[in-house]
Amino acid sequence: MLALSLILVLAGCAGRHSISGCLSPAGSASRDIVRHQRSIDAAGLCYRRETVREGGFDWVFHVLESPRAADGPFWVLPHDNENSAFEAALHAVLTYGGGLLAVDSAGQRNFRGQDPNRNFSSSAAESRLCIGQRAPAPAYTRAVLDHYKGRRGPYLAMHNNRDGWQGNGGSGTISINRTNAVLYSFRGSGSGSAGPLRDEDDLVIMAGLRTPASDPAVRRRIAALNAAGLNVQYKQVTGRSFDCSLSDYVARHRLGEYYNIEAEHGSTATQIDMTDRLMSVLGIRPLRGAAANPFLD
Ligand SMILES: [Zn+2]
Repeated sequence: MLALSLILVLAGCAGRHSISGCLSPAGSASRDIVRHQRSIDAAGLCYRRETVREGGFDWVFHVLESPRAADGPFWVLPHDNENSAFEAALHAVLTYGGGLLAVDSAGQRNFRGQDPNRNFSSSAAESRLCIGQRAPAPAYTRAVLDHYKGRRGPYLAMHNNRDGWQGNGGSGTISINRTNAVLYSFRGSGSGSAGPLRDEDDLVIMAGLRTPASDPAVRRRIAALNAAGLNVQYKQVTGRSFDCSLSDYVARHRLGEYYNIEAEHGSTATQIDMTDRLMSVLGIRPLRGAAANPFLD
């Protein structure tokens, strides 16, 4: 009887998750997808609509996948109000292959009161660690992370943030000038075309369980990113600092390397430049004959 109940529960879970075949971007409810339908069609990207029903939320994800380098870099875009991030991630898919997943929140940061980037947890006990998560979200978490199955390379995300941060009179929460007991900042150096990025809001975020001082591999990676001109902020994820964001979840579960490219809202050209610098440091080469960049004309 217990076994039968378990099967029914599992069947119920599976029924709450769906993903379509390739659809026409012209018919999408996502303004991001419709805005770029010509680029998507010209590159032959597969556009799919994915849904997860869980914890009272009907999540919709928009997924783009390149037929070239199908196992290439994959980008998660949790926030629907961050348009530069979407455009830089689309640039990445057109240039390097791979794919992206954009959470649909009707153009807002939050979806019905839940921040999509505070919604990664695999159990009720883990969810209770995070004040920003309203209900455990194992199906949501699995649906996003399943896109990394069979894929080479790290977990990747992109975000936009507001100018400065509250600690120096600005309005955002992200800045290379902000540090605390678990947040470490490393400024870019570089030279020539890989000269350092000057804006405090443009940085790459990494996360891990150890301090940078006690993790030589992390220190080497940070040094390489700094030498490419990229500012790096590293968060040490602990039981107390875990916040159900994607970065923290990847670190907590030791899933692999994680990089989030953060740029100020509207800094599309900078975010694309940062993407190319990160790909270069990671040894990911552009596809041969990739389409000219539609954002930098
Ligand atoms: Zn964001």
